Amino acid sequence: MSVINIEEPNVVIREKRLGTINAFTGTASEIVQKSEAGTLKDAKRKFSQCLGCNAQQAFCQLSMIKDVAVINHAPIGCAGEFSDFNFTFRVEQEKRNLPEDIGRYFSTNIQEKDTVFGATKKLEETIHIAYERVKPRAIFVTTSCASGIIGEDIESVVEKASKELGIPVVTCSCEGFRSKVWTTGFDAAYHTVLRGIVKPPTKKTNKINVVNFWGSHVFDEIFERFGYEAQYIMPFASIEELEHCSEAAATIHICPSLSTYMGAGLSQLYDVPEITAPPAYGIDGTDGWLRALGKVLGKEDVAEELIREGHEKYVPEINKLKERFKGKRAYVTAGAAHGQALIHLLRELGFDVVGASVFHHDPIYDSGDRNMDVLAHAVSTYGDVKDYRVCNKQSCELVNALIRSKPDFIMARHGGMTLWGAKLGIPTLLIGDEQFGIGYKGALNYARRIDETLDSIEFIKNFSKHASNPYTEWWLTQEPGYFQNGGKGCGCREGA
Ligand code: SF4
Repeated sequence: MSVINIEEPNVVIREKRLGTINAFTGTASEIVQKSEAGTLKDAKRKFSQCLGCNAQQAFCQLSMIKDVAVINHAPIGCAGEFSDFNFTFRVEQEKRNLPEDIGRYFSTNIQEKDTVFGATKKLEETIHIAYERVKPRAIFVTTSCASGIIGEDIESVVEKASKELGIPVVTCSCEGFRSKVWTTGFDAAYHTVLRGIVKPPTKKTNKINVVNFWGSHVFDEIFERFGYEAQYIMPFASIEELEHCSEAAATIHICPSLSTYMGAGLSQLYDVPEITAPPAYGIDGTDGWLRALGKVLGKEDVAEELIREGHEKYVPEINKLKERFKGKRAYVTAGAAHGQALIHLLRELGFDVVGASVFHHDPIYDSGDRNMDVLAHAVSTYGDVKDYRVCNKQSCELVNALIRSKPDFIMARHGGMTLWGAKLGIPTLLIGDEQFGIGYKGALNYARRIDETLDSIEFIKNFSKHASNPYTEWWLTQEPGYFQNGGKGCGCREGA
């Protein structure tokens, strides 16, 4: 179990806290066994085609809290994600019938001379400008490689500003170079909120924290049956709601990779119990998750009722669709725990999951509870996945793995990966809303969408005839994990 220490301004990075890795080639059972034994080691990748920045993941969680301003203490180039998240913020507001508001994002625009003379003055001014312009309930200051390298004393600036303005002004240490695992950025955002926003509880409420991105509100109906209410955090929560999330009856995860730190933090600091069963994906997964939730809430009878109703209502149609998927080969590419949940779901729908490329691997979560291990659960229920890779979105590896696995269908979680399905003539499904697949209804949702996706086979095959491939013949004959083992050269036509 990790110890969550909110006295420290910086979150301990995932590599150190959880032993997280970015590169692995083997089988699913091998990675599960090594994770349990504590012998998992990161392969040394000698070439990376691309990398994510953990500052972006921190921003992803902080930027859509309803009444805050976020200041990126960085050169303007680090603010590339402002437009992406502003767009998501607007779209998701519309979906929720909320008044439209733009993201309140600011950059201190650190320039070359600031790296010599310091930029704390600029930061002080930007905090005051942000406060005057948007009157936020809290201000978060996210850091960058530049502010980290020049050793800015951000803590004293935010402390002073917080006293002057009478609102929390909190640093989020998420310099890109701090961690090779971009999901450390989620932890940095939760550390910031636990440290600077969440208050000790004064009472218990009937709320259940759902730590999520900005998914649909599928938990409302489920929790209502138990007599509880969903509190979705952190996007679209207000500062007041976050202050009181310590008073909740429980915390649930839609993806432990996302929220392991927040769940453990609320549990360790304020005794909010975490539901440590794998998330509710697939029939079997939903049964287990409902039973775990019922147990924590002391309402096992309600859980059994929901299981009975769910089976009666959804399983017959799922079984009909399963007949159409029998013998089909599937490939999954997604974030770690979510990808593992998708493996579980696809197997339950009758697919032969021939391979997976997930973006990182956490051998353990912050709770230290092995029950949360989604992959171990998938392997013990449905058997091994022969070609299981940890590949932090290196398209070159994915392309080679797909060419070798020859799947009939790809399930992807991130937009940048789906184009390879189309280029290679393989029907590919991308689901942006992770809550779309939750529960029995979610399993049926997926079965229907997969069925439609498989129907696109002729279109995709035609499309692939006209698609170009940037990789050389040489690269296409290498093992997908070539660079994990010290290979040289990048394999694309420009740089081979
Ligand atoms: S923080 Fe560092 S890694 Fe992240 S965008 Fe800025 S320069 Fe790049």
